[in-house]
Amino acid sequence: MPKRVPLLLTTPIYYANGAPHVGSAYTTIAADVIARAWKQQNRKVFLLTGTDEHGQKVADTAAKAGVTPQAFVDTQAKAFQHVFQQLNVGFDRFIRTTEADHVVGVKDFLNKLKAATTPLGRPAVYQGEYKGLYCQGCERFLTEKELVDGRCPLHNTVPQELVEHNWFFRLTDYLPKLKKALTSNSLRILPSAARQEVLGYFTQGIQDFSISRENVKWGIPLPWDKTQTAYVWVDALPNYLTGVGYGKNARQYRQWWRGEVVHFMARDILKFHTIYWPALLMAIGEPVPATMFAHGYFTIDGRKMSKSLGNVIDPVDLIGKYGVDGTRYLLLTPFPFGQDGDLPVQRFIEKFNADLANGLGNLLSRTTNMVEQYCGGVVKSVDAPKPLTKAEQQTLAYDFTGSLVTTWKAIAWANQAIDRAKPWALAKSTKPADAKKLALLLAQLVAQLLEISHALTPYLPVTSATMTKALRAKKIVKAPPLFQRVV
Ligand SMILES: [Zn+2]
Repeated sequence: MPKRVPLLLTTPIYYANGAPHVGSAYTTIAADVIARAWKQQNRKVFLLTGTDEHGQKVADTAAKAGVTPQAFVDTQAKAFQHVFQQLNVGFDRFIRTTEADHVVGVKDFLNKLKAATTPLGRPAVYQGEYKGLYCQGCERFLTEKELVDGRCPLHNTVPQELVEHNWFFRLTDYLPKLKKALTSNSLRILPSAARQEVLGYFTQGIQDFSISRENVKWGIPLPWDKTQTAYVWVDALPNYLTGVGYGKNARQYRQWWRGEVVHFMARDILKFHTIYWPALLMAIGEPVPATMFAHGYFTIDGRKMSKSLGNVIDPVDLIGKYGVDGTRYLLLTPFPFGQDGDLPVQRFIEKFNADLANGLGNLLSRTTNMVEQYCGGVVKSVDAPKPLTKAEQQTLAYDFTGSLVTTWKAIAWANQAIDRAKPWALAKSTKPADAKKLALLLAQLVAQLLEISHALTPYLPVTSATMTKALRAKKIVKAPPLFQRVV
C-alpha cells in the first residue's frame, strides 16, 4: 500500500558555476516524475530543487566575467529556473544558497554542530591542520587513491598542495551508527550497485573532514570563527533542511523532515550524500533521510559528453524540436533509471515518430475518430475504480523505463486489437450483434486510453491532460494529432 506520510523529494542543488545541461535536466525530470506520481495518489509532496551558489570557483568565474559574484549567480539561477519551468518541472521551491533564510539556517546548523558531542563523548567539531591535494574544479581535497596519473580524474588537472587551519567534523565517531543505518536499510541506497559502492567506502577507509576553509570570501562565515568560511558542501547540503523551513518555520520544517525524505542525485556525489550528510544530521540530532537514489552516467551517441567533442546537449534545443513531453519521454526511455547508459540522440527522431506520433498519437486519433463516426461521439462508460496498475507501480518503484514499456505494450496491443476487429467492417454490417460488438470495442478502447493517459500523467503531463479532456468529453470528436511528426 502507498505510504501516506508527507513526502519530501529533492534534487541536488546545481552548481551555479556552470549552465544547465542535459544531466541536470535528467535528474530533475526524474524527481518530477516521482513527485507527480505520488500527487496522483493524493499524497502530500514537496519537490525541492535549486542552485548552489557559493565557493571560490563561482567567485573566480564572476571576476573573469567582470561582475560581482551575486550578479553572476542571479543570472545563473534564472537560467536553471527557466529550463526547469520549460521542462514542466513542478517544483515547490527553487532554493538558492545565497538567500537570506538559507544563510540563517546554515549558521544555526553550524552552531548546533559546534555544540554537539559525538557518541564517544568528544566534541563533534575540532580545530586541526589539513594538508592535502586540492582540486579547484571539485572544490575539495582529493585522496591519493582518487588521482589518476597524479591528476583529478574528473577535471584532468594536477591538484594543488594546500596546508590550512580548518575546523573538522569528527565523522569517524559516527561511522558505527552510520554503517548500522546502511546495513539495516533504515537509510536505503538505491539502486543496489550504489549501495555496494557506499558500503565499499567503509573498507577503503573514511576520515574526518574539514567543514571550513580559509581565504574563501564568497561563502558563509563560521559563526564562531570569522576567519573561516563554511566549506561549500557544508553550506550546500543543509539546503534540504532550509528549503522546507529549517531555522525559519519550525512547523513547516517538521512536517516535511519528519515525513519521508528521498534525495535524488547523480552517482558522482554519492559519498557526500550517503556518508557526510547522514553523519552531520546524526550529530545535530535530526533524522536521516529514508532513501537516496543515485542515477548513473550517460554517454551521447556512444561518446562521453564534452565541450571539445561538441556533443553537449542543451535541453532547450530538445524542447524546441520535440516539445516538453517529447523531451521528457526521450530522456527517460533509453536505459533504466539508476544504471549507466547511452542517450541515442541521433535516433531521437525515429523514436519520437514511432512511439509518440505514430503509436500513442495514432491510437488516440483513430479511436476518437471512430467514436465520432460510428457512435455519435458517445460510448458506454466501462470505468470502475481500479487498484494501482502495473505501470503505476513501476513508476512508484523508480522503474521509469519499465513503466513506459508496460504502457507502450498496452498501446501496441490496442492498435493491434483495432486492426484485428476491423471496426470499419463492423460499422457497415447490418447484424445487431456486430453493432453491439462495435459499441463494446470502442468503449473498451476509450477505457484503455484513459488508463494509458493516467499512467502517463507523471511523464507526459500536458499530453495526458489533452488525452483525458478529449476522452471525457460529453460528445467525443476526432482529436487533433497529439504530436506532429518530426522530420
Ligand atoms: Zn577535480
